[in-house]
Amino acid sequence: MKKLLVIGCGGVASVAIQKCCQNSETFQELCIASRTKSKCDALAKKLEGKTKTRITTAQVDADSVPELVERIRRVRPDAVLNVALPYQDLTIMDACLECGVDYIDTANYEPEDTGDPAWRAVYEKRIREKGFSAYFDYSWQWAYHKRFEEAGLTALLGTGFDPGVTSVFVSYAKKHCFDRIDTVDILDCNGGDHGHPFATNFNPEINLREVSAPGSYWEDGRWIEVPAMSIRREYDFPKVGRKDMYLLHHEEIEALAKHYPEIRRIRFFMTFGQSYLTHMKCLENVGMLSTEPVEFQGHRIVPIQFLKALLPDPASLGPRTVGKTNIGCVIKGEKNGRQKTIYIYNVCDHQACYRELGSQAVSYTTGVPAMIGAALVLSGVWKKPGVFTTDEFDPDPYMDMLNQWGLPWVVDEDPAAVE
Ligand code: NDP
Repeated sequence: MKKLLVIGCGGVASVAIQKCCQNSETFQELCIASRTKSKCDALAKKLEGKTKTRITTAQVDADSVPELVERIRRVRPDAVLNVALPYQDLTIMDACLECGVDYIDTANYEPEDTGDPAWRAVYEKRIREKGFSAYFDYSWQWAYHKRFEEAGLTALLGTGFDPGVTSVFVSYAKKHCFDRIDTVDILDCNGGDHGHPFATNFNPEINLREVSAPGSYWEDGRWIEVPAMSIRREYDFPKVGRKDMYLLHHEEIEALAKHYPEIRRIRFFMTFGQSYLTHMKCLENVGMLSTEPVEFQGHRIVPIQFLKALLPDPASLGPRTVGKTNIGCVIKGEKNGRQKTIYIYNVCDHQACYRELGSQAVSYTTGVPAMIGAALVLSGVWKKPGVFTTDEFDPDPYMDMLNQWGLPWVVDEDPAAVE
């Protein structure tokens, strides 16, 4: 009997949980625990009578290690899937260590309070030493490696689409398509239209922090940082069409650069429409993207958190979003002495996701790999002691499960290159 404790019950969690319930052979029991228990209860009710997986629900504040420990001890899961926010990564890892259970997440740690002096000192040192200034990086979670290793536990980090599937695409390419990989361009295209003037497709606070930060990429053994949205390319995405895309910093670059030192350059591009960029610039210019608290009528508020309260809930975009996503990796390298380029990608249709699970494709493309990562850890296929990203395991079972569980992939042997 395998039991998973899922922490968080937002857009991504809803997909991950519904997919776990389609895969009852692996997930015989599931406990959904989150800050707002009524959301867990509503999802459990939606699944009633539709799955063999036994579901329970609970309330938990994942910022509190003692609360988490108490919850994990009561539920007694084999693993914890963290689909709350990156702010809770370290508290949940601490609790997993204390309780002796495996840990899985979809996004690497970043602090909620970027003004915290202790965190800031480490952050500023990292900017000086490494050369990228994103709030998130792997160092905090990689620092847990020894403790997980000594406890005989597995922590699988970043099993969403990007990061997650994109990193598996690279390890698959290395295993099956190349003797040597020279460059990787990770492309994230959302060709969907939700009809709102401005909305984000996953948690607005995390999303806007990410896309408004300076861009950076890895080249010849070092980071190169550039102003936000300053590098633009156009790409003709299969099944979506021509889109403008912009270079961003992204977490899988850091893991791939560490684990595949042969790769000379790794970049990440995301598509944005002009209206999105204009709204974002305006919000940034008036201070609404700030993470620093301000005094307002006797209350301390964080502007970006207030903005989140005003923007549409990403989980509500499902019924109104039409179009497709296309996410993948353009990989260049050498095989048998010959240069070659491939594009490995998945196309996902927003309305098809909505019909299946009531979610839009961004939650779907993240939630399915979260279930796959959890299934591989639970079943022992991806189990080794320590802290790992998805590029550090055999890619084949993961790639098979993508085909099986709703995210089929394609290898184009003659793709357009990215300039
Ligand atoms: P949502 O905001 O929709 O959901 C977050 C959930 O976490 C909510 O249910 C929220 O509770 C809960 N939560 C927040 N704080 C706490 C807390 N202290 N204790 C317990 N529960 C808490 O986010 P998304 O579903 O959009 O994103 C989930 C994760 O997925 C994020 O980490 C995001 O970065 C990651 N992600 C990864 C991607 C990838 O491809 N790798 C792509 C997209 C997202 P409440 O309902 O009370 O607010």
